[in-house]
Amino acid sequence: MRLRRSHGLAVGQGVSDRMRQAVAQFHVDAVAHASDSTSETLPAPKCFKCKKGVVEAVLAQDNAVVWVCPKCRIEGRISNWQGSLWDLWNRPPTSG
Ligand SMILES: [Zn+2]
Repeated sequence: MRLRRSHGLAVGQGVSDRMRQAVAQFHVDAVAHASDSTSETLPAPKCFKCKKGVVEAVLAQDNAVVWVCPKCRIEGRISNWQGSLWDLWNRPPTSG
């Protein structure tokens, strides 16, 4: 018996995939912003939750990227982003 994906399920997964991709992109941008010490620092990404303002992302002492949104107070910490984050971002979509 073959497992078949229902269309409704595929749509639901598409939304969550897009959300996951938005969060992944946010993390990539936050890491790029925090880890770039050149004069042409990339702009910090917009908060993926409230989308009202850009977050503040800084590199912590242990090389983790700590970010906080001054608007909605959501905050996060991205550790071990060297390698793993890019794997996450480059992972091909599961649909199809
Ligand atoms: Zn926010």
